[in-house]
Amino acid sequence: MEIFLNEIPEEGLQRSGQFQSSLFDLDEKDSIRSVGPVEYDVTMYRFEEVVAFSGVLRAPFQLQCAVCLDYVDYQAEFESWSSELDLEEGQKNFDLSQVIREDFLLELPASPFCEDLDPERTCPKAELIQQIEEESAKDPDADSGPDVWGALDDLK
Ligand SMILES: [Zn+2]
Repeated sequence: MEIFLNEIPEEGLQRSGQFQSSLFDLDEKDSIRSVGPVEYDVTMYRFEEVVAFSGVLRAPFQLQCAVCLDYVDYQAEFESWSSELDLEEGQKNFDLSQVIREDFLLELPASPFCEDLDPERTCPKAELIQQIEEESAKDPDADSGPDVWGALDDLK
């Protein structure tokens, strides 16, 4: 969605609507899946070298749990979104949908845990992680292997 800088009046330019989820152009194998339209309600302000944005963004995603690798529904809602776009010399326009796309990808939780995304959920692999943690806590010498052998050598 092209916005021309000279369209933006001093008091700001308000735009709202939806982008299709295909905006994200993600691969099936990516840890983020966009599963519905992106709603936006944004006001843009033009300054010398930047355009400033503020408004509301909402879009449904599925994010991959970093532990069990399942995809879990996640409704992203940025109720007080703000961002800036640096303008290059001579730049006359920009693509609002690309600004919004990049900010979603930056703001979505990186390597999320499914129980944090969905409080009703129990991560099927969480127990495994806990076991590994407990075992290494029980056996504090576990990772000091080479030193143990070094100590034995000293005894000879
Ligand atoms: Zn999980």
